[in-house]
Amino acid sequence: MSNMFPLPSANWPVMSPGSVWLAGAGPGDPGLLTLHALNALRQADVVVYDALVQRQILEWAPQAELVYAGKRGGKPSACQADITQRLVDLAQRGKRVLRLKGGDPFVFGRGGEEAQVLVAAGIPIRIIPGITAGIGGLAYAGIPVTHRGVNQSVTFVTGHDATGEAPTQVDWAAIAQGSQMIVIYMGVKYIGKIAAQLIAAGRNPEEPAAVVVSATTAQQQVLDTTLGRMEADIAAAGLEPPAILCIGEGVRLREGLNWQALALGLAPVQHQAMAAAG
Ligand code: SAH
Repeated sequence: MSNMFPLPSANWPVMSPGSVWLAGAGPGDPGLLTLHALNALRQADVVVYDALVQRQILEWAPQAELVYAGKRGGKPSACQADITQRLVDLAQRGKRVLRLKGGDPFVFGRGGEEAQVLVAAGIPIRIIPGITAGIGGLAYAGIPVTHRGVNQSVTFVTGHDATGEAPTQVDWAAIAQGSQMIVIYMGVKYIGKIAAQLIAAGRNPEEPAAVVVSATTAQQQVLDTTLGRMEADIAAAGLEPPAILCIGEGVRLREGLNWQALALGLAPVQHQAMAAAG
């Protein structure tokens, strides 16, 4: 490992005892981890990790104690306050703590909340961004989140709120009207309600949509559907979270850019000319 990824010994940040680094592990594929996160994995005394962090990534911290802080929508999970308190306690006991989250720690990951508590407790922190599922996961399905002439705007939105219900503070009509590409995290449960609101606000039910399950992992599955059929197709295919949902004309680009299928030598799908607006 150390030969495979030679991190220069000088100039890389050193974890001090009593500090907490909040890092993103990326969407799944261990190769999408950043070098800063790898540098932290090698130094940490304790790694507090979430459900979506792949096992292979944790194996890069053989010296560390591993603490599971599993949080998955709808499944039993450690409560957020307990996890944050655990980080504070570990740091106050002089540990070098790595808090490792799926994707990016500041994107629907409560990283900001944990960081606020740590700062308030006087604990030194460092933030290590990661590749978020809504960008990297879609890229693995051959979907660019922006594309000149097709989608110049993208919205990242959560499909449920802190209580696990459909989010009440999201203005779906405004998103429908203002965002060409809509990327929904944690959206499987309420996609029926969400799609109905987007359609009521003027989005075309025939608009292409995709669902990427376990993106960037060996279990990745991609469902091609439309805004109007999304809920029924997800149910028919029996798809389960974690899934990223995306809606927009840009999803069509996947027909030509599904690079994993291309790499396998599968017959490329006929490229459909995009209605590029110039
Ligand atoms: N901080 C994470 C998001 C955490 S919220 C990030 O930046 O990616 C958890 C949600 O993220 C899941 O319900 C799902 O919508 C999405 N997600 C995370 N990893 C995923 C993956 N590998 N494939 C599909 N969706 C994923």
